[in-house]
Amino acid sequence: MQAANDGKAGGEPGSSMGARISTHPFDDDGLREECGVFGAWGCADASAIVALGLHALQHRGQEAAGIVSFDGSEFHAHRAMGHVAGNFDRPEIIAKLSGDAAIGHNRYSTTGETALRNVQPLFADLASGGFAVAHNGNLSNAMTLRRELTRRGSIFQSTSDTEVIIHLVATSEYRTLLDRFIDACKQLEGAWSLACLTPEGLIATRDPLGVRPLVLGRLGQGWIVASETVALDVVGASFVRAIAPGELLVINASGLTSLTPFAPRAPRPCIFEQVYFSRPDSFDGQLSVYEVRKRIGAELAAESPVAADMVVPVPDSGTPAAIGYAQASGIPFELGIIRSHYVGRTFIQPGDSIRHLGVKLKHNANRGLIEGKRLVLIDDSVVRGTTSVKIVQMLREAGAREVHLRVASPPTRHSCYYGVDTPERSKLLAAQLDEEPMRQFIGADSLAFLSIDGLYRALGEPGRNRAAPTHCDACFTGDYPTRLTDRDGAEPAPQLQLVPGGRA
Ligand code: AMP
Repeated sequence: MQAANDGKAGGEPGSSMGARISTHPFDDDGLREECGVFGAWGCADASAIVALGLHALQHRGQEAAGIVSFDGSEFHAHRAMGHVAGNFDRPEIIAKLSGDAAIGHNRYSTTGETALRNVQPLFADLASGGFAVAHNGNLSNAMTLRRELTRRGSIFQSTSDTEVIIHLVATSEYRTLLDRFIDACKQLEGAWSLACLTPEGLIATRDPLGVRPLVLGRLGQGWIVASETVALDVVGASFVRAIAPGELLVINASGLTSLTPFAPRAPRPCIFEQVYFSRPDSFDGQLSVYEVRKRIGAELAAESPVAADMVVPVPDSGTPAAIGYAQASGIPFELGIIRSHYVGRTFIQPGDSIRHLGVKLKHNANRGLIEGKRLVLIDDSVVRGTTSVKIVQMLREAGAREVHLRVASPPTRHSCYYGVDTPERSKLLAAQLDEEPMRQFIGADSLAFLSIDGLYRALGEPGRNRAAPTHCDACFTGDYPTRLTDRDGAEPAPQLQLVPGGRA
């Protein structure tokens, strides 16, 4: 089902990594993906455009990247471990990915098996023809669906939750590919922003809660879909609009068709996209992510002021909030930490020891500036606490007199099941410790987090609407907007809908 590293889609499964092949579903990285998706339809050199788009979305996943193209009769695929630039900068690879339609995917995975067979877009030859899918988000019932599909004879080739989508489409009793796809999506629970490539067109859809972002753009006569607006900017496409939660777009030679096949729900986009995950030069609707982060900093300054000589961001993720804090407090903003641009995001490196090492490689204290000074240190979030401990220690060793840590989000107390890799609760510092023991653990002179209401105020709301929150903030509140069938295990296996004929 999943294509080989190079060449025509649908080849033998292959791995240049010599990875261990596991048969246990989701035993490692399958349930923890934070990804970027990008698709182009009706564009000359579609795969080159997709490669550029993926490059702009590299922050969403750095471990593997893939592109599948369609030339009108055949699909072509290239998937590889590593960054987009290292894999798609060779003209011969782009040349092989021919056609004016393509989709691509950036993937992050954690420890254990990082096999090529999990690298997206996944591809299958279905009765209706080729079907490639790129998925951002995470399904909270994938294991349950997989068990049921396996019981009925489906043979899985990867450990990625995304593969259940392919099997649901393949086994649906509906007639047309579109109906089969809709039937499949109706059985998914959790977060799914999908870009799919089929002979019938590019299909893009977002789960009814709109947990992960997905936007629509125009490039000449062609269409683009992307996880974030920054990817439209980078390829020179114009922003058309966000794809609405629960909307399904079909883009083909007949143009663009918008369907709303899923039961509507009040949207709950992920609030952590605003805090950390999205690039600051992206827009979420009318809101610039950069502006939101500055407002977060201003809220933090109002909630947790402190006498200090300078505001210092943990670069780059803390920078916009630190600017907001500095402007609101009147304390000068300074680059007290210098970041090497040749090391990836600390967090996006598997393994605790490497993660520790990564912090040292990535940041260095600007000793001449901070010696003898009282610092307000701003980071966007504290997850395991690894970064904060190292950075505070580094600033003290470089002579800082006081280090006051201000965190531009509430304490992360709960795991995410929707595609942000916040680890199991036992590894979340704020799930284990209250604020004062956390301060001691981190070694800061004072510690304060933004309140959940402050976070919503930064988004332009009066506070968190407890009865009807506008975002998914489960990592901070534990208020999960969907059932967590796999986690809770108590739900009966869903009855796969096998209704032949038209659309349900
Ligand atoms: P930690 O060191 O485990 O406390 O992680 C916090 C640091 O990782 C912060 O500096 C964030 O910028 C970054 N971070 C937080 N959440 C994530 C995530 N889901 N993926 C990647 N990086 C993250």
